[in-house]
Amino acid sequence: MRVVIIGGGPAGNTCATVAATLGAQVTLIERDVIAGAAHLWDCIPSKSLIATGGELIELGRSHAMGLDAQGRLDVAALRERIAGIEQHLHRTIVELLESQRVRLIAGTARFKGLHEVVVETAGGIEELEADFVVVASGSRPRVPEFAPVDGERVLTTRQSYPPPELPDHIVIVGSGVTGVEFTHMFNALGSRVTLIVSRQQVLPMKDPEVAAVLEAEFLRRGVALLKGARANAIERRGDVVTVSCDDGRVVEGSHAVLAVGSVPNTDDLRLDAAGVELDGGGYIPIDHHCRSNIEHVYAAGDVSGKLPLSSVAAMQGRKIAEHLMGLHNRPHRHLDYDKAASAIFTDPEIADVGLAEAEAFAAGRKIRVTKVPFSANAKAHIKADPRGFVKIVSDPATGVVLGGSIVGRNAAELISVIALAVTNGLTVNDIVDSLLVHPSLSESLADAAS
Ligand SMILES: Cc1cc2nc3c(=O)[nH]c(=O)nc-3n(C[C@H](O)[C@H](O)[C@H](O)COP(=O)(O)OP(=O)(O)OC[C@H]3O[C@@H](n4cnc5c(N)ncnc54)[C@H](O)[C@@H]3O)c2cc1C
Repeated sequence: MRVVIIGGGPAGNTCATVAATLGAQVTLIERDVIAGAAHLWDCIPSKSLIATGGELIELGRSHAMGLDAQGRLDVAALRERIAGIEQHLHRTIVELLESQRVRLIAGTARFKGLHEVVVETAGGIEELEADFVVVASGSRPRVPEFAPVDGERVLTTRQSYPPPELPDHIVIVGSGVTGVEFTHMFNALGSRVTLIVSRQQVLPMKDPEVAAVLEAEFLRRGVALLKGARANAIERRGDVVTVSCDDGRVVEGSHAVLAVGSVPNTDDLRLDAAGVELDGGGYIPIDHHCRSNIEHVYAAGDVSGKLPLSSVAAMQGRKIAEHLMGLHNRPHRHLDYDKAASAIFTDPEIADVGLAEAEAFAAGRKIRVTKVPFSANAKAHIKADPRGFVKIVSDPATGVVLGGSIVGRNAAELISVIALAVTNGLTVNDIVDSLLVHPSLSESLADAAS
């Protein structure tokens, strides 16, 4: 079975490893770095910077822990640290792929026919025949026409890790997940931040109670929130960047960063040569096996237009490998995007999974919602951080856990318990009956489930 995979990000490299382990003859083509945008420009560098910012915030709280500590940011050391993490992860993934005898080609791929893929490499053109092709080419930041991106002061998210000098005053355009993470990141590192919020709430798709905690925290930390304003022009003059909004408000900063979504990398793939259809946004529509309209062409990751998360991309890659190797004929669980846990790495962290309270309310569905604050948790006080809460949504008749959200320290880790319950149909009693560690933040999960 010859499998050709285009793109070596979480979707592509997971698919390659699993397919090769199951016995396929796999070729993986990557034009940039194996590990993909996720490791090079998105998840890993942003979370590494956020981790450093988080340490600075911890130092600010140190007096509450009985300490007198100070921190000074060393931008050069920070860059080195991020590069080190990236190199380590890249090497680990390459070693894993090589150990499974995956053939790696450095080059840019495109379709030539139904089963033919052409790769442009430094050494020339190579043509490959495939029984199955997996498109895992990812996405790139969307740049609106009004934004004169220059990589110095008007930046996409990928040019911000960090820019050559830490910005004095950065204006962040877009208040979705990436916008709020960048707001937290630059504020924690010491920049003045203005966040342009096109609606009346940051994180417009999230539970208003969750967004309210974050907004209060941003205001406490001196972030300026420009609500109900949509940026429609950006101009750079020397060291000054001016962002104008459609309601007439104008903000002057030293830098601006665009966090306004992404576009799929499908334009140069010649997908038409294989008859693969795209939707209006340029994404590849897929069925529940991640197959495109052409039976032997699959799509995984951001390019599929489903949830743009590394975790989802990797799971899609795994499911594709299992499907094309025929494992779906055995007892098999389909990927359920509604049950994907996700996190926002702000301070406090935010995480959720499954059915949200507002969603159930809009659908007129009967639910039971229980919420406990971390201020009732001993460990939260021991860590001098009793902010936030745990909320669990369950079925009032059966007790089955349908969803949950957590705001607070370690929310991204704690949500796993609720995710496990949601995916496996566990009940609130299953959580309550678990003997958890004391003192621990997870005790709040059991309290919320009671
Ligand atoms: C700032 C930011 C932070 C994020 N943080 C998180 C997070 O914390 N957690 C999380 O789960 N998700 C996060 N994401 C989302 C995550 O990065 C993406 O969902 C993930 O990268 C998608 O993986 P992928 O394999 O589809 O694509 P990618 O990781 O983009 O990999 C695709 C690869 O395909 C290659 N490629 C493209 N075209 C070709 C071609 N023609 N030939 C050869 N190679 C090609 C590219 O070079 C790239 O390496 C974040 C995104 C952003 C923007």
